[in-house]
Amino acid sequence: MPGDVPLETFREEGRKLVDWVARYLAEGERLPVLSRSRPGDLRAALPPHPPERGEPLGAILADVDRHIVPGLTHWNHPAFFAYFANSSSAPAILAETLAAAFNVNGMVWRTSPAATELEVVVLDWLRQLLGLPERLFGVIQDTASASSLVALAAAREAVPGLDARRRGLVGQARLRMYASEQAHSSIEKAGIVLGVGQEGLQKIPVDREFRMDAAALARAVAADRRSGWTPFAVTATVGTTSTTSIDPVAEIADVCERERLWLHVDAAYGGAAAVLPERRRVLEGCERADSLTVNPHKWLFVPIDLSALYTRRPEVVRAAFSVVPDYLRTPEDALAPNLMDYGVSLGRRFRALKLWMVLRAFGREGIAERLRDHIRLAALFRDLVETDPHFEVVAPTPLSVVCFRGRFPGREAKDADRLNTEVLEAVNATGEAYLSSTRLELEPGGGPRVVLRLAVGNIRTEERHVRRAWELLRSEARTRR
Ligand code: PLP
Repeated sequence: MPGDVPLETFREEGRKLVDWVARYLAEGERLPVLSRSRPGDLRAALPPHPPERGEPLGAILADVDRHIVPGLTHWNHPAFFAYFANSSSAPAILAETLAAAFNVNGMVWRTSPAATELEVVVLDWLRQLLGLPERLFGVIQDTASASSLVALAAAREAVPGLDARRRGLVGQARLRMYASEQAHSSIEKAGIVLGVGQEGLQKIPVDREFRMDAAALARAVAADRRSGWTPFAVTATVGTTSTTSIDPVAEIADVCERERLWLHVDAAYGGAAAVLPERRRVLEGCERADSLTVNPHKWLFVPIDLSALYTRRPEVVRAAFSVVPDYLRTPEDALAPNLMDYGVSLGRRFRALKLWMVLRAFGREGIAERLRDHIRLAALFRDLVETDPHFEVVAPTPLSVVCFRGRFPGREAKDADRLNTEVLEAVNATGEAYLSSTRLELEPGGGPRVVLRLAVGNIRTEERHVRRAWELLRSEARTRR
């Protein structure tokens, strides 16, 4: 019988692999954060055809070291400060191994009762940690993009008389949804997928602190109604991607209630801060949302992918998504949730396991301590930037991301932008730190300007990593003045 690789080999290689991972976590910071690989390098290093005969596991793992690792940008590096820095913590790495060993597919309750029930329990734990209302129903999606897609599909389902699920949208009312100019592109993408189209997303202006202008939202909805659109949903963001600005959710909820619009909150990154009692106000007003997403894979030490979607209207999500062929009917259908009914995919990985293991291994206190430290490190970096006349902070720092830029007085805007990009690329090329950038309108009518971002979020980041990034930035900026 052909069967699997001999388990004795698995045991032997598995032990070595755990040691390898521990070494990677302990010493990985010696590796360049941003991969130095050039396009095509890995493809050229690997054979163009699959092997005819099986190869020993040991040889394959040796190739991970030789070929794969150089092609990695090390997201788990303590000096990874790009995008939203995040972490795969030790408990979650073990959980992922277990999930692969179990290989359960939690599409319906009976295909693994523990997968469904742990998901229900662990999302309720997370809900409590975030201070969200009791009546919320939670379900895990792979990413925030999927969570927002599912939420907005439910919003579409809730439009009276539309019945888009059955009739589609052709020849129907033109739907309009709203999000700020700073909302994540996944909202626009959801509109594309849902047949709302890019024109069906109205981007609402932001104030000087990059938060949605709720009065402008109210005006836009009224104007749309006058010109024949059917407004149906608003997405507010708690922790926007560029600056982590926090939309005024309570004011937006007022508009939604008055206008009978579905309120979705994208708290993919920022929501995690609500674990801290002193930061709980980041989710102020969210108790009035119809749906809300938080990504434990962003700032809760769980590796990609795991996004939590909460809703107070699970029956609408179910009405939007549930299609049950005969082969998936079970005797327990009326007794337990079948989580396939609350999203696009039928197959469902056992993602709850890693969140459960992380919450247990660190506890509320341990998580709070780590988040607090990240906020402290961001504040420290902000102070360093603020006290240097050659740099400026260009946005508020409500959480753990600092937006700043080098000042190059006397240079045209275009040149100053180019120099900032050069500084960023030069720092990233050192391999000692990795930051990313965005573009923001800093002066009304001034056009978008290049802005550098330092995002703290990795569980192994220490003060020395932040200080070193600052040294590198200063020295690269100095040589360009
Ligand atoms: N929402 C916000 C505010 C984000 O910053 C991001 C990604 O950074 C997303 C959604 C999309 O996240 P995901 O990769 O989980 O789809």
